[in-house]
Amino acid sequence: MGIETLAGQAAVVPAPAGRHGHLGSFAANASNVATASDAHLTNPAISTETSDGKKSFYLETFGCQMNAHDSEKVSGVLLGRGYRAEENPALADLVLYNTCSIREKAAQKVFARLGDWKTVANGKIIGVLGCVAQQEGEEIFERAPWVSLVCGSASYRKLPELLAQLEAGGRRVTGLDLDTDETFETEITRRDNLIRAYITIIEGCDYSCAYCVVPHTRGPERSRASDAVIAEARRLADAGYSEIQLLGQTVNSYRDPSMRKWSFVDLLRAVATVPGIRRVRFTTSHPNDFYREIVEAIDETPALCDHVHLPVQSGSDRVLRAMRRTYTREEYLQKIEWIRAAKRPISVTSDIIVGFPGETPADFEESLTLLDAAQYDAIFSFTYSPRPYTSAKDLPDAVPEEEKSRRLAVLNERQRQIQIANNEKLVGETFEVLVDARHAARGQWTGRSSSNRLINFTSTRENLLGEYISVRVTRGGPNSLAGEHVL
Ligand code: SAM
Ligand code: SF4
Repeated sequence: MGIETLAGQAAVVPAPAGRHGHLGSFAANASNVATASDAHLTNPAISTETSDGKKSFYLETFGCQMNAHDSEKVSGVLLGRGYRAEENPALADLVLYNTCSIREKAAQKVFARLGDWKTVANGKIIGVLGCVAQQEGEEIFERAPWVSLVCGSASYRKLPELLAQLEAGGRRVTGLDLDTDETFETEITRRDNLIRAYITIIEGCDYSCAYCVVPHTRGPERSRASDAVIAEARRLADAGYSEIQLLGQTVNSYRDPSMRKWSFVDLLRAVATVPGIRRVRFTTSHPNDFYREIVEAIDETPALCDHVHLPVQSGSDRVLRAMRRTYTREEYLQKIEWIRAAKRPISVTSDIIVGFPGETPADFEESLTLLDAAQYDAIFSFTYSPRPYTSAKDLPDAVPEEEKSRRLAVLNERQRQIQIANNEKLVGETFEVLVDARHAARGQWTGRSSSNRLINFTSTRENLLGEYISVRVTRGGPNSLAGEHVL
């Protein structure tokens, strides 16, 4: 089930282990593209075949699920060109980093990785893909002259062309276009997760949140045609996947560009009825485009998972305005009300930033009271990190780093208490769990409920991986539940 092709055949390609887990993406810019005729620039390493006769690649992924899935597609493109995946970067002909620049630390990590190759690149092709590639562009060649490929995610469709240039001996190729209305369609996508498969339905972002570099690094919003999405869901079902996650930076802003003109809800309902698909998730929803119809669709369609990730970012109207989030606290909480009023319980999770410029203790207190009001099942919390190309980067009244860290700890502790209290209430309930791991040492299995709750459980049965089973909750912890298999 590791690789899925357009023709629908499936062959097993095991995912590399550890941090070498995923694979990335890329594109070109004529001004800096070398050709085979530039003899003095020619890099011979890419044509050095390994003992099995195939060139090899190593791909490391940083950041979000969108990046993880882009890496799966890039892997597919490379495998389709005859490369093989290599777990050890020292042994690979092509070393790629699919990068994240959402916060400064993530971007710094990539330059640390590139530094590892300064004196030992040995003719390898080193490439930077993703958000740092788009953000830093050709500057990367200045900072790390041993890099050969720089390609942002909006240019990934040019990946085969860029690879061809490298294979022909090109030393420096770039793909940094942002003005594309195409999405990255691949003939082959390598699937790293054997249980859950991702489908990108919308790329880029047309919002302009003051803190966020994504519109710069991923380009404008582009939705995929609904028939391409449904065809991919069918292929995944044929390959044995039963859980699909629809992806987009603002997944619910989806608008079908084809004649069918489906809404996001039309697409959700259609994917949920593909034979063989038992669970459909979607992330990330923007509160501005979150309508009641989405809750109705979840209520009426068992295959739509009862979980919504709806990032609020702040509980203070003043800060939301400064962040350019396009909704108020009250409007946001109204949407939470719709979700809470659904016929079946729907779990809600969120992202919150603390320490945005000008955030006062009173503003921060409003984020804390929002946690009480929303009763999230989990949150991802961040200290604000100023990013280039964002409107907030030069805002006055920066919150000192120490104070940001203090607020983060207070926020996380408040949320921890909420999760402990709510998870304890689940003791005695039974969930349908899709089993995704076995912990032999602990004698436990792990799986996820439709609401995306992590449940560790015991069972007298063997071979449960990939099975849907019933688990009764026996204990609730802050971040997970413990339970036992109901036979
Ligand atoms: N599109 C999603 C939305 O509108 O909520 C968010 C996508 S973003 C890749 C993921 C999260 O990173 C954001 O929800 C935000 O909480 C966090 N984030 C983005 N920029 C940040 C920054 N400059 N500093 C700290 N956190 C940031
Ligand atoms: Fe970034 Fe805002 Fe777009 Fe989300 S909606 S990706 S936070 S600009």
